[in-house]
This record gives sequence, C-alpha cells and structure tokens, in this order.
Amino acid sequence: MLSNTTNAAKNVIRPIYLDFQATTPLDPRVLDTMMPFLTEQYGNPHSRTHTMGWEASEAVEDARAHIASVIHASPKDIVFTSGATESNNIAIKGAALQAERKGRKHIVTTHLEHKCVLESVRYLEARGFDVTYVPVDDQGIVDPNDLREILEKRPDTALVSVMAVNNEIGVIQDLEAIGTLCRKHGVVFHTDAAQGFGKIPLDVVRQHVDLMSISGHKIYGPKGVGALFVGRRPRIRLAPVISGGGQERGIRSGTVATPLAVGLGRAAELAEGEMDRDHRHISSLADKLWTGIQRRIPHVTLNGHPTKRYVGNLNVSFSYVEGESLIMGLHDVAVSSGSACTSASLEPSYVLHALGVPADQSHTSLRMGLGRFSTEDEVDFTLEHLAGTVGRLRELSPLYEMVQEGIDISQIKWASH
Ligand SMILES: *Cc1c(COP(=O)(O)O)cnc(C)c1O
Repeated sequence: MLSNTTNAAKNVIRPIYLDFQATTPLDPRVLDTMMPFLTEQYGNPHSRTHTMGWEASEAVEDARAHIASVIHASPKDIVFTSGATESNNIAIKGAALQAERKGRKHIVTTHLEHKCVLESVRYLEARGFDVTYVPVDDQGIVDPNDLREILEKRPDTALVSVMAVNNEIGVIQDLEAIGTLCRKHGVVFHTDAAQGFGKIPLDVVRQHVDLMSISGHKIYGPKGVGALFVGRRPRIRLAPVISGGGQERGIRSGTVATPLAVGLGRAAELAEGEMDRDHRHISSLADKLWTGIQRRIPHVTLNGHPTKRYVGNLNVSFSYVEGESLIMGLHDVAVSSGSACTSASLEPSYVLHALGVPADQSHTSLRMGLGRFSTEDEVDFTLEHLAGTVGRLRELSPLYEMVQEGIDISQIKWASH
C-alpha cells in the first residue's frame, strides 16, 4: 500500500489519534503531580484535625487557584465536580430551580449544546419551564440580536445557557456580547466551556459569565473530574442538586477527589502556561491538514464558521462517501463522525442539522481533532490515508460516477439508512 511506503508512515504510532474533542491523553506531567495523592498522601482534604488532612486540603486549594487563574476568577468561585456533565446539571438545574422561586420559568439555550445540557433543559421543561432555542446561522453562530429580542420579550427568563466552543464543529460563540445582554436583563448566564477552557482565552469578568462548566479530560487532565465556576459578583445562588455534608459551598456535597482535583489543577496550570504554544502548534498542523485535504480531495466542505472556530477541530464533509464507511476504511486513524455520544446511531448529527446541513452531506462528515501531542508525520500519514480511502470509496459510488460524467445529480435523493 502506498501509505506504508512514505516516510511519515515509519514515524507514527498507529492508530493515529485525531479525536481530541472526545477526550485527550493524560499529560505525563499531570500524572506526576497526581501520583503522591494516589499513594502515600491519602488524607481527606476535609479533615481538619491532622497534617494529612491539611496537606491534602492545601493541594486542593492550589489546584483551585490554578483553575481560577485561567478564567480570571477567584479561587473561591471554583467548585469541584466529577466532570462537565455534572457541572452542567448542577448549573442549569440549580439556577433554574432557584429562579423558579421568584416566578422566573423561562430558559434560553441553543440546538448546538452538548446532550447533557439539552437533557437538563428537557428535565426542567417537564417540570413546567418554557424553553426558547435561540437560532444559529448556517455557520453555527448565535446572533446576539436574536437573544436581545428574546430577553426583551420574556422578563421571566431565569437562565441563558450557550456553549463557548462546540464539540462537533468547533465554532466559538461571542460570549462577551451574550453575557453583556444577560447582565443587562438580570438573567443568569451559564456557558459550557468544556471545549474552550485552557484552549481559547476566557475571562468571566469581561464576558459577564455567571456559571462556567469545565472538564478535566478535555485538557490533558484525568477523566472523572471537572469544575464549575459559580460567580459571586453578582452572587449566584443555586438550589443544590446533590444533598450531603455541604462541601464545596454546599453546591457539591461529597469528599473532593484529591488526586483528580490536583490533576485538573495541574492540567489547568499547564494549559494556561502553554496556551500560545499549543495554539501555534495545533493551528499549523490544522492548516496543513485542511489545505492538504483541499489540495488532494475534490468535493469537500468545512462545516461551521471558517474563522470563528477553535483551530484544533475540523469537521469536514466528503461528498459521495458515506461517513461510517470512511471511518471503517480509515482503520489506522481514530476520528469521529459527529459527536462521540451519538456516533453509535446513524441519526444525522443534530448539530449539523441545526446549521441546515442536509442529511446526505451530514452523513459524509468526519470530525478530525488535533492536540498538544499531534505531529506533522501524523498529519502527513492521515492525508495519504484519507485521500486513498476517499478515492477508493468514491470509485464504488454510482453517484460519483455520474458526477464524473457530468450528469446533474442535484435532483437525486440519497437512499435513506
Ligand atoms: C466532553 C464534553 C462534556 C462532558 O464532559 P465530561 O467531563 O465528560 O462529563 C460536556 N460538554 C462538552 C461541550 C463536552 O465537550
């Protein structure tokens, strides 16, 4: 095979990991920081009566400070959770149930949100909340003017939840414009920043964010840990979703997982210190990948806004090639179709659907994610492999044959699954 003879092929470990939006590998420096807390330093950070407790507590507080620093928050604003799913649940349900006491029973969100946000909102809908989905344009961007109209019409709005960076297509929303509107209307603003934290500059003060969800395993930290920023200026009150001993300001009872919290703190510290370096590295590889794809493969489309996007996320449609077959064909490259949570089903991506991407185009899309540990050789190998696989699959496509022969196929509908 052609791909086995290239230089790049010799220098890469397979499978090549291009799925950094689903999860990231643990940075070895994070593991080093965690290790003592998985072994000899096992004190409970809530124990106040001995040095083992104090030392654990000190490590947790250091971690809290590193996380806060990335988003210009105060360490007191950071609550540890088990991940962004839990943070989103606590933020959305907690803020809505709190506002309900004041008669505010309206929530605004988008169709682009992660399933855990959409499902939390549906839970509230079943409890009598009204939900408005602010539209996105065909590049996946929320127009703040649409939000303004909604907020002016609905003074009973409890909460606006709009994600920072989308996990399927990488688009970045204008948090500052959205936050400014929310603040003006006295509405709590929550953002799911699992894909943005540590990767793009975020500032809860300038962007007027009240609640921000963070995940450890999207930033080279461990799985099973996350954080929720809960603003104190203005003071955000949350009805507790988890009842217990009152740890973490009563917002998230339960013993803080010291090794995981320490790992998240170290990952945040590294992300902050290396944000520029990571960005340069990842954007140069992503440019190479995308220009290489366009040069070698005809009929490709980049989904989502071309520039208002996180550079490490390329969602590309390869027309006339079924996405699932493409993924099977690319057995040496770990990529995803749409989002990892829904890729088991053959439903077209709801995110691409919200952008108005037709189902047949959506079925041909791949998400390719680059990260801190990606290399040029991996990109070269991927390009080679991708061009070969797309070419082979298109040779088998009667539709593509017609395109080659110049037949207008725009009236032909793809067979449904
Ligand atoms: C990964 C992800 C989540 C879920 O995070 P976990 O820490 O795995 O619970 C939520 N939202 C977005 C945008 C994500 O990318």
